[in-house]
Amino acid sequence: MQYVSTRGSAPRLGFEDVTLAGLAADGGLYVPEQWPVFSTAEIAALRGLSYVDTAVAVMKSFVAGALDDAELKELCEAAYGRFAHAAVVPLKQLDHRQWLMELFHGPTLAFKDVALQLLGLLFERFLAKRDTHLTVIGATSGDTGSAAIDALAGRAKVDIFMLHPKGRVSEVQRRQMTTVLAPNVHNIAIEGSFDDAQALVKASFGDAAFSSRFKVTAVNSINWARLMAQVVYYFYAAVRLGAPERPVAFSVPTGNFGDVFAGYVAARMGLPVARLIVATNVNDILHRALSSGDYSAGTVTPTAAPSMDIQVSSNFERLLFDLAGRDGVALADQMRGFESTRAMRLTNAQQQGAAQLFASDRIEAGDMAQAMAWACSHAGEILDPHTAIGLAAARRADVPADVPIVTLATAHPAKFGDAVERSTGIRPTLPPRVGDLFDREERYAVLPATFDAVTGYIAERATPR
Ligand SMILES: *Cc1c(COP(=O)(O)O)cnc(C)c1O
Repeated sequence: MQYVSTRGSAPRLGFEDVTLAGLAADGGLYVPEQWPVFSTAEIAALRGLSYVDTAVAVMKSFVAGALDDAELKELCEAAYGRFAHAAVVPLKQLDHRQWLMELFHGPTLAFKDVALQLLGLLFERFLAKRDTHLTVIGATSGDTGSAAIDALAGRAKVDIFMLHPKGRVSEVQRRQMTTVLAPNVHNIAIEGSFDDAQALVKASFGDAAFSSRFKVTAVNSINWARLMAQVVYYFYAAVRLGAPERPVAFSVPTGNFGDVFAGYVAARMGLPVARLIVATNVNDILHRALSSGDYSAGTVTPTAAPSMDIQVSSNFERLLFDLAGRDGVALADQMRGFESTRAMRLTNAQQQGAAQLFASDRIEAGDMAQAMAWACSHAGEILDPHTAIGLAAARRADVPADVPIVTLATAHPAKFGDAVERSTGIRPTLPPRVGDLFDREERYAVLPATFDAVTGYIAERATPR
């Protein structure tokens, strides 16, 4: 499989290069040159397969040329063998039509493990063949950092530098990062906000001297391999609920538009997806874009669902590209306009194309708390705030009554214990696999939010390319 950039001028690359590159050289994002399409019979043949076998069937065409089926299976077995539930992403029924798919049974308790556990193994496999050393630099408001660190700790030929805003991530989130003491893991607490940390990462990527010395890459969801791994669970759930004969809808708590874009890919591959419900909190740029074509960024309002406190959703660019005839030159123009004014209008083709599959909703704090309380009292399920936003949108979505709706449960409730306790009166307990988190030794540097401090720190510790 070959990949092209959404901005039309970066070179076409194979899966291996796309995985190691992250962002395309023209500032765009890589997407497959064409979508592999499954026939009804091929979807029906997924019935009864394990998660790993489903993963191999769904991902094999995307990795073609880089990995054969046996290699892909070996990596999936290693990645998903670390999940604490035998179904990997179990489905739970809430009422006659509402379902949950629990994506948080991985090592760091959020859905990001599903993709990052595989990505860590892909990095290791591809770097083993090359004479290069990779330097991963990222900024996190919580979940991405811990999932990326767990996936990369101790792996050969890769160092990870993860910046988090000092004092602004939860204690569970901080400890999940800072108690990983492997020598290739470097945690940096920035004296500033998440936006400051993010800006420092971008500046280091954009600095020619720095990025010519080190082969730097990103592990946020601009990396195609992450999205690819997330396509799998849409197939896995839909087949269990009656696909290909019966269509299924999904409600997705959305921030950077990565998880729900994977659902779009599944639909393009032939999975009968009745609706993709994009659930946002009050940081609602995606809801405004999908309901009225207005994609304009404001300032971020902190909420109880911090992983969705985002104003610019990087992966939305992939959707806009695919919906507007895959014209990279036109999209590059549209995105440049957005980058200079922080606002743009969707074209008619983009707006109408999106409306065929997507619905959206904006969930306020009160409705989020109510969904949490409903799930607790009616189905005995404790939800985290992100999942509760998804469920609130699912319960009031305009979807035909005979279509089951699956809400993606993106984090374990114990990761956001305070918010859960406020809405339900119940304090969720951390699962045994992370139970001694509060007794482990922590290690991290504290740095001022300046370019020189951060790049100087990294340059002293990273291995040149
Ligand atoms: C990252 C995250 C999201 C948002 O996912 P996107 O792919 O960025 O849309 C939602 N919930 C949780 C718990 C997350 O960690």
